[in-house]
Amino acid sequence: MSRIAYVNGRYLPREAAKVAVEDRGYQFADGVYEVCEVRGGRLVDERRHMARLDRSLGELRIVRPMSNAALAIVLRETIRRNRVRDGIVYVQVTRGVARRDFTFPVAGTRPSLVVTARNSDQRSLEDIAAEGIAVVTVPDIRWKRVDIKSVALLPNVLAKQAARERGAREAWLVDSQGCITEGGSSNAWIVSRDGKLITHPLGNDILPGITRSVVIDTIKAQGLPFEERTFTVEEAYAAREAFITSASQTVLPVVSIDGRPVGNGAPGLIASGLRRDYHDHAEISD
Ligand code: PMP
Repeated sequence: MSRIAYVNGRYLPREAAKVAVEDRGYQFADGVYEVCEVRGGRLVDERRHMARLDRSLGELRIVRPMSNAALAIVLRETIRRNRVRDGIVYVQVTRGVARRDFTFPVAGTRPSLVVTARNSDQRSLEDIAAEGIAVVTVPDIRWKRVDIKSVALLPNVLAKQAARERGAREAWLVDSQGCITEGGSSNAWIVSRDGKLITHPLGNDILPGITRSVVIDTIKAQGLPFEERTFTVEEAYAAREAFITSASQTVLPVVSIDGRPVGNGAPGLIASGLRRDYHDHAEISD
């Protein structure tokens, strides 16, 4: 857990870090967020995460709480105060505090900004990666703008809880056509029998993952065969490899889907290679 949180201009100990009951994030999930990896005390892929934050805010017409330069300082200060070496920094911006009313509050209402940071257990993540993870498929019941990184994550909460109850670390969400869109908190990938890396195309029905975009740059640079297209649950069952990508876990091999082993049931070579080399391709900030 974050010991110190930045809340609207102040760095506060966890117990004192609070937002108002009438914050629109609390009332309506009217807010957006970012999770950025911290490695060796430095931010990973910061520029891309900040660009996506700008886009999410713009799509929802939430005012930027501060300039990117000022936010960069707050992120670093929150990382420093929490003594984070390897972990994550979390940024949340909501439409602010106002009397509960569905329509936007009056112009001039200040957005709320919260930043937290914590270390994550690298040893356990490496163990999980070495073993590979189980995923299970669940229906994708989310709204039609999941390209916006909003804090309205109830379907994701339910999907990931269902996965846990079925002994899996991640849920793969399945649309009405029987295609896998993405994971509950990650992007979904398969390697087909003929060696093509496949992931769902960008659009309104997946989050444009930052880790996904870095992995795409990497596989293009390495000349690996790549297809950005939808794939069905059946194709995933038949895949040679599967994996997920997210900022907090980078690349994690998937070794079973709905209890069926993927390939030979061990982490695949391509997924393991992408995980090993991820930070050679990511942008590490000062
Ligand atoms: N899809 C969803 C639904 C997510 O919540 C996340 C993680 N925030 C991702 C994909 C992966 O995105 P990123 O690589 O930017 O962490």
